[in-house]
Amino acid sequence: MIPSSCHVHIDWNHFRHNLCQLMRKGKALMPVIKADAYGHGVLPASDILAELGIEWAAIGTLEEGRLVREHGYGGNIVSLLSFTLSPEDVRLAREKRIIPLIHDWAGLRALDAALRAENSEPFDIAVKVDTGMARLGFPVEEMEDVAAFLNANAALRPVLLISHLAVADEPEHDAYTERQAENFSKAAAILHRSYPDVLCSLGNTAGLASHTASAGDVCRPGLAVYGYNPQFGTSREGDCEGLLPVMSVSVPLISVHPLRKGESLGYGLAYTAESDRLVGWAAIGYADGYRRNPAEGTCMCVNGIRVPVIGRVAMQTTCLDLTDLPFTPQSGDIVHVMGGPGHAVTAQELADWWGTIPYEVLCLLGKNSRD
Ligand SMILES: *Cc1c(COP(=O)(O)O)cnc(C)c1O
Repeated sequence: MIPSSCHVHIDWNHFRHNLCQLMRKGKALMPVIKADAYGHGVLPASDILAELGIEWAAIGTLEEGRLVREHGYGGNIVSLLSFTLSPEDVRLAREKRIIPLIHDWAGLRALDAALRAENSEPFDIAVKVDTGMARLGFPVEEMEDVAAFLNANAALRPVLLISHLAVADEPEHDAYTERQAENFSKAAAILHRSYPDVLCSLGNTAGLASHTASAGDVCRPGLAVYGYNPQFGTSREGDCEGLLPVMSVSVPLISVHPLRKGESLGYGLAYTAESDRLVGWAAIGYADGYRRNPAEGTCMCVNGIRVPVIGRVAMQTTCLDLTDLPFTPQSGDIVHVMGGPGHAVTAQELADWWGTIPYEVLCLLGKNSRD
């Protein structure tokens, strides 16, 4: 990747703090560090799981799992995005002790064929059951057949049953979440008849925080470990308190100059000064994952003080109105796009300004060079 002028800083102490906070719920955790740990860096994230004695990690692709294993993480690695495994995938998963998540018959049959060709040791898998998300997973009604198929194939050893909640973060849909939990219990009961030791994993962040009793043996928090609350703004905001944001993003100010009353700036001359202003350009734009059309009121921070974004966001530059700063900013000064000292901008605020969710903000900005 060609480095940009945009710098992502990760506060691993905050990551530690968030994990400790979640561990207080009393459930085993399988933190979700897929997609490069939501843009934070999957390898250092895995170091901290190991340091805290967390025995499960959920990653995306098998390849991401390989990197985590080779980096030294010794716990269980579950690949959420393993799809249909080729014989090479099976070899990789076995060699690196990565547990693939099998979610359909094609995947199960391909794996069975690959293992028969290999004719070797039992192979650990996680089974995904669809309890109402309608994304990935065997229908609950097919779990008897799945159990029978597994029973007939000693090389296939299920260790984990997984399902995912669709609306756990929306209190008004609690009845749906409860139905998902019931469906999950049914699936678990079927699998447990043949495999009593299979562990159950249902809850994501919101499931762990607000549906703790039905969240399963092992929970899969993602967003909360990075310091954000999926239930922000709902009646259950308080279930996930005390989290600290882990990512901050800074860029240099590359130009500072006056803009006189009546003058316009940027592409489309989209901003016109109604009075004399002092403006500056920050070195970030849509190429760095900063949205081109943020809402009115979008801000960045200079020395901990918020300044408004004005005009049209360009590919690698965004304009700020610096007039009201109590000091004279200069080219080279640091601008915090998110996080940093003072009245820091949060991923939640950026999400509101961009019309999205903090997950996407972290993934987008996290693609820039990390310190
Ligand atoms: C991403 C993901 C999670 C984490 O969800 P959060 O809302 O970030 O806690 C959990 N389980 C699965 C299967 C996922 O894909």
